[in-house]
Amino acid sequence: MLIKGAILILQENEILADMHTHTIFSLHAHSTVLENIQAAKSRGLKFLAVTDHFYQDGSSLNQKNEVTRIRHLEETVNLGGEPYVFAGAEFNIGQEIHKRHQLELLRWRPIGLHAWFIDRKNLTLEHLLELFDEATGWHNAFVHIERELDKLDNHRHGKALDSEVKNFFAEMVALAKAKNIWLEVNESSIRRNSGGDGDRLRYWIKLARDNGNKIYLGSDAHFAGRVGDFKFSLELLNEVDYPKNLILNCDYDQLAALRSI
Ligand SMILES: [Zn+2]
Ligand SMILES: [Zn+2]
Repeated sequence: MLIKGAILILQENEILADMHTHTIFSLHAHSTVLENIQAAKSRGLKFLAVTDHFYQDGSSLNQKNEVTRIRHLEETVNLGGEPYVFAGAEFNIGQEIHKRHQLELLRWRPIGLHAWFIDRKNLTLEHLLELFDEATGWHNAFVHIERELDKLDNHRHGKALDSEVKNFFAEMVALAKAKNIWLEVNESSIRRNSGGDGDRLRYWIKLARDNGNKIYLGSDAHFAGRVGDFKFSLELLNEVDYPKNLILNCDYDQLAALRSI
């Protein structure tokens, strides 16, 4: 962890929540809700968002069942102790949702770009920005906005932080600020740096800091052992001196308030 002078700017024990975690309901993740809760508890977290991928895009009955399952998760698993579990889902740009108004029943609704729902080869940065803009009507957070940009538009940008990619991030932070959307610092993007994800995140986080964006930390854990692991995120946020008051995970009152939206 980076030390400025003699002071640790942001320390692990100030992180009260993990806002991006997966369970076996994501089908490619490996832990149950209970295992994730126990992992969060052992790290001293007070809040845990369960954000399995929202896959059930087949029949409307499947979708209804998925919304019902997620909605009832919160009242089923919260037995009065800590962490408090938020029922959420990770949504996908380009995904067809039959009854979008049902999404309002879910507490935490981050959306991001994923490989499975859209033809990335023909997707341009301009179009992606429009899709994120449309999504602000239904979603309250943008998840890993740096992810998969190297694969867009016939790999036009690759890992390069060219002027178009830089402009995309400038537009995204402006959009998020204007529409009151949380931006995610994704631990997994930095740790893996697959396709240049971590480098792109390192670029936009400075724009977000200068623009005063509200952000949150998500481990993107697909295994209980990764829940609440923010080693690289903390290093980055300390490196860029991100204002603590703009980080949801450090703000008990804001996290508690999420329970009633
Ligand atoms: Zn996943
Ligand atoms: Zn994701």
